[in-house]
Amino acid sequence: MPVNFDIPDRLEISVPVEGDDDGYLDKECPNENCLSQFKILKDDWDRIEQSGQVVCPFCRHEAPPGSWWTTEQIEHAKAMALEQAKHLISTQLNRMFKDIASDFNRSQRSNSFFKMTMDVRETGRPPPVMIPAAAAETMRTRITCGKCGCRYAVIGTAYFCPGCGERDVEAAFSAKIAKIRTIPETIEALRAVLDKDQAADLANTLLEDAIKGGVTQFETMAKYLYSQINNSGRIRQNLFQNLTDGSLEWEKVTGVPYTVYLDQQEIDRLNVYFQRRHVLGHNDGHVDEKYVVKSGDQSYQPEQRIVVKVDAVLEFAALLTKLVSGMRGSVSSMAPPGTEGH
Ligand SMILES: [Zn+2]
Ligand SMILES: [Zn+2]
Repeated sequence: MPVNFDIPDRLEISVPVEGDDDGYLDKECPNENCLSQFKILKDDWDRIEQSGQVVCPFCRHEAPPGSWWTTEQIEHAKAMALEQAKHLISTQLNRMFKDIASDFNRSQRSNSFFKMTMDVRETGRPPPVMIPAAAAETMRTRITCGKCGCRYAVIGTAYFCPGCGERDVEAAFSAKIAKIRTIPETIEALRAVLDKDQAADLANTLLEDAIKGGVTQFETMAKYLYSQINNSGRIRQNLFQNLTDGSLEWEKVTGVPYTVYLDQQEIDRLNVYFQRRHVLGHNDGHVDEKYVVKSGDQSYQPEQRIVVKVDAVLEFAALLTKLVSGMRGSVSSMAPPGTEGH
């Protein structure tokens, strides 16, 4: 008896990938050592897709647009493909069983299909969520590339634009400051969804990262501004992590010390945060003699540990912003080297 069992060799399905409520798509870096996730506005992604290469905002890995599916998207697509295959096979099976003679030995073939059905149920489970979605959303920073206009979003610090690979220092600095300013809301969101201890731990991490990351971002920004007016001289590593030395070097090339942008009291406050950053980064937050001397901070004694408060990070962000905008103003008031008039 002829059996018409019409299953194609190759089954192609297309799974639509939708953006979130704001039109951002989820992407994941294909570099095995990175696998970081980020979001990118769908319109900008469509544009990048035509240009050919995508850059990871975290590790700068480059790959064609087809390589950036997230693990969740691939699992979802697999589950949908299996659902469709299952549907196709069961339709064919039903048709086949209708046609088939009752003495046909069907057990082996049907068993193998049912195994596949069971597999389907085991795939497509979402992975465990480490940070509740609502809290993760407030921790996300949105960035618009100053060079190509690509709009993307990350949790943490992005170093490169996925569209053009540019290290956009201005965008990264603004994004860092904006993120520090949202810390109070983020902490509220964490408290609402996590238990007290977990929320307090995460809040501490965020506050300490604000000081550490803020200094790093300032240093990058200062080097970038410095390079715009003096691209010949090499500067000492970590120079701009030190306010006194940084100001001296800055004055050499611009004629203006930091005290023109901030008054002495503000410089002293900022210096306290720069010193705290050092202790947080290198001594796990434990105060030593050197800290007390260098910061002039009388509120801590050696052996104590720095506790970073919300008000402190907000003050720190305001001081950084004020200093950087002063420095930026000095740079733009100086004619770039090599232009007319020099
Ligand atoms: Zn990466
Ligand atoms: Zn760009």
